[in-house]
Order: sequence, then structure tokens, then C-alpha cells
Amino acid sequence: MATAVTEAQATSAPIKQTKILIGNRWVDSVSGKTFDTINPATGEVLAKVAEAEAADVDLAVKAARKAFHAKAPWRRMSASERGKLLNRLADLIEQNADELATLESLDNGKPRHVARAADLPLVIACYRYYAGWADKIQGKTIPVSGEYFCYTRHEAVGVVGQIIPWNFPLLMQAWKLAPALACGNTVVLKVAEQTPLSALRVGELILEAGFPEGVVNILPGYGPTAGAAIANHMDVDKVAFTGSTEVGHLIMKAAAETNLKRVTLELGGKSPNIVFADADMDQAIEGSHFALFFNQGQCCCAGSRLFVEEKIYDEFVERSTERAKRRTVGNPLDTKTEQGPQVDNDQFKKVLGYVESGKKEGAKLMCGGERVGERGYFVAPTVFADVKDEMQIAQEEIFGPVMSILKFKDMDDLVERANKTIYGLAAAVWTRDITKALNIANNVRAGTVWVNCFDVFDAGAPFGGFKQSGIGRELGEYGLQQYSEIKTVTVKL
Ligand code: NAP
Ligand code: MG
Repeated sequence: MATAVTEAQATSAPIKQTKILIGNRWVDSVSGKTFDTINPATGEVLAKVAEAEAADVDLAVKAARKAFHAKAPWRRMSASERGKLLNRLADLIEQNADELATLESLDNGKPRHVARAADLPLVIACYRYYAGWADKIQGKTIPVSGEYFCYTRHEAVGVVGQIIPWNFPLLMQAWKLAPALACGNTVVLKVAEQTPLSALRVGELILEAGFPEGVVNILPGYGPTAGAAIANHMDVDKVAFTGSTEVGHLIMKAAAETNLKRVTLELGGKSPNIVFADADMDQAIEGSHFALFFNQGQCCCAGSRLFVEEKIYDEFVERSTERAKRRTVGNPLDTKTEQGPQVDNDQFKKVLGYVESGKKEGAKLMCGGERVGERGYFVAPTVFADVKDEMQIAQEEIFGPVMSILKFKDMDDLVERANKTIYGLAAAVWTRDITKALNIANNVRAGTVWVNCFDVFDAGAPFGGFKQSGIGRELGEYGLQQYSEIKTVTVKL
């Protein structure tokens, strides 16, 4: 059962920053407006945060453009110096990791110990990884015909607009800022309206690290106003977006209708997680539980279409249901909590709406399906069996703690069924048979495939989607391509 966060705990939140960061100064919004960010464990207001809109985006883009001027400090700085700044930021985040984990937990609802043990190390590793790349981003010499010397330069794209979601606020900020800055771009970042606090604290650390004026600008605000202003801005050279596929369409349309800014998108998913009868059952059950329920089910790559081979289906359903019933839901500040609240009332209602739809379409509700506690946005870990491919819960992204278990007979039609979705973000397969594992790995249309594991992330390993799960890749060396322009220089000899 949920144990609510007490007022005392909530108000002891170390909230140091609630303004907009433009040109290395913390400012109120042009309109003077603020919005409330709430604690989803209690429904109470944590802080009033400056609400950026189009006018603020304009000022931020101007600051970022000025910082990108050829004579500005950022452009004159050596590449290795950029790397040093990123390393300094990583050090500062590490020194303040406990505080950042608490902020992340209060604003987003994820368990604080999970934020500290899972999110923060990946955040720090991401800044360090791209710090290392900063002075290794280099072009080629090309043996062209004729008496010419031809070489390429990998240059920064320019002013980059970035829009991030609320499910991993610090990590999404790192995935966006680190490669963009390593490549020498300047940034206008809009953080999600549900979870602005940790990103703003990192903004303070960015100033402390010594980034020059205007290189990083951070705007809390709403999507249709601040977000759309970035996507439509004529002086933004590229927009990088993570969020829903629906908004991804809007971002691309805005880019097409304005200045053809470069677009990269990390969107939704409905990832197949496939369990063969020969898999290690204990591992497959715990791994599939984690694949779906981690982060309150709010993962773009959640293993939300769980295909289980007929021979072990009943046992698997029974044991997965047992495991879900044992999942501890409650106060995110309690170290025993596995699952906190959904991020806000909208998501909470949306998830419960999908539960109703599952029941109506004839899936078998094994456990959960209801609210936990009287306040906050807690949803009981839910398992549906007998789920069919065409049901809404098997087609649409639920983004909550709702597991849908489907049955398959053999390999024959499995790949086709796994691929029958508009998405293509991730997939996983559990088996002791290497042939089956590689058959799935080669034939599933997804940007990432995990074999006998799930949600294994590394700053060096690229991540992104096939089909409507996105365009481009983040992380790794591939992530650098999205933040640089190739210039060809040809010199007559
Ligand atoms: P969303 O609307 O796509 O939000 C993602 C980001 O885009 C937020 O910063 C949001 O601002 C902004 N945004 C919204 N409308 C915009 C617009 N017209 N132009 C520019 N930016 C805009 O997602 P959501 O509403 O938070 O969640 C809805 C669903 O999206 C979830 O249930 C889930 O299925 C999916 N989702 C996926 C991911 C992922 O990692 N792929 C992450 C979050 C959500 P606001 O802060 O105002 O919303
Ligand atoms: Mg919040």
C-alpha cells in the first residue's frame, strides 16, 4: 500500500532554482507568469516555476546565437577545453548527486534510491563520455581526382533547440546537452513542465563549471507555447526532441514549414519482449518484470508486448502475476519502495483508462488495475493475460505499470507479429538457443535488441528508433553525427 510523503519531507526539498537561464543569468519570464510543479506522491505544489513562452525563447535564441558568434569565447575555445568543461560539470553533478536524486524523486515520483543508483551514474557517465570525444571529432582527407587537396571538417550545427520529457529528466538532459556541447553547439533547452527542478539545478552547476555566457540556456515551460516556439524558430538550426510520437509529427512539420532545421526524434515504442520455452525461467520472469515495471512503466522502450511461448505460458503468467503482486508501491523516499506514483494526474487517468479498455476488449485481468492509496497518483502493478495482437493495450503506448502477456506457438509467425506495430524502438529475447536469439535480433525492426537482458544502457551504445519511434540516434559515436555538419574543403594545388 502507498505510504504518502509527509509535508515535512516535501517541504524539505532542496529547491534552489526556479527561474529561466538565459545568457548565464537567472531571469523571470517576460510575462512574469509562473506555473506550479507538483509532487506526484502527494499532489501538492513543490514550487512555482517561471513559465517561459515564445518571447523568452526569442531571448534565449538570441543569447545562444551570440554565444555561437565566430569571435565569441565558446567558438575560440579549444576542443579539449570544451571537454574539460564537460568533465567539470560531471564532477559537480557527482558531488551533488544525493541532492539531485532527491529533487528528481520529489518532482517525478521515481524512488529516490533508484534515481541515485540508476539515473545519476548514467548521467555522470554520459557527460564524461562526451567530454572525452570533444577533441576527437575530426574529418578526413579525401583522395579526389585532379590536382586538389580535399578534406572534411566536422563543424557544429549552430544553435540547437532541445525539448525533453519528464520520465528521466536528468538523463534526458544529459543525452541532449553532452553531445551537443562536445561538438561545439550552443543550446536552448526546454524541460518538461512536469519535472523542471533537477534540470534547473544542473543549470546552476553549468554556470559553476564555467561555461561561457549563452552557451546553455534552460527554459521551463509548456510544449504548445515554449516548445512550439523552439520548433518554429527561424534562427534555430536544429531541433532534437524526445517525447510522444504525436508531438514528434508536430516538430517535424514545424521544421518543414519554417527553416528546414535539422530534426532528430526519440519517440514512443511498443517493444516486443519475447520469451522462449528454453529460457532460464527465473531470469526471464524477473527480467520481464523489470522490462515493464521499471520507472513506473514510464519508459519509451518498456517491454510492453510480452510474447511468451505456449508451452510455458500458464506458468509464466502465474509467476509474473505473483511477482507483480509482490512489487512494493509507495513513498518514493523510502528505500524499500520499488514503484512510486505516475508523474501526474493526466498520466494516472490515462493508464487507468487503458486498464478499462483491456477489460472491455476481453483480456484477463490477473492483478492490479486500480488506484493505490487516496492521494498521489499511484497505480497498482497490473497484469493482463490472454492479450490479443489487435487489442488497444497491445497496440498503444500505455506508459504505465500495465503488463500485457501474449501467447505464441513457434518462431513461424512470431517475427511478423512482433513487427506488426508503427513503432520500432527496442526488442528483447530470452532463450538459451543462440540461433533463436540471433534470428530475432536480425529480423525484428527495432533500434535496440537485448538478448537475455533488458534496459542495459551505456553512453557508448547508440539508442534510437526504426519506423515511427524516431529519426536519428543518440549516444555513442553515432550521436555526434546528429550534432555536426560535414564541410568539404577543396584546395587547388
Ligand atoms: P509530450 O507531449 O510528447 O512531451 C514531451 C515534451 O514535448 C515536453 O517537454 C512537452 O512539453 C513538449 N511538447 C508538447 N507539445 C509540444 C508541441 N506542440 N511543440 C513542442 N513541444 C511540445 O508527452 P507527454 O504529453 O508528456 O506524454 C504523453 C505520452 O507521450 C506518454 O503517455 C507517453 O506515451 C509518451 N512519452 C514518451 C516519452 C519517451 O521517452 N519517448 C516520454 C514522455 C512521454 P510539456 O512539458 O508541456 O508537456
Ligand atoms: Mg513535478
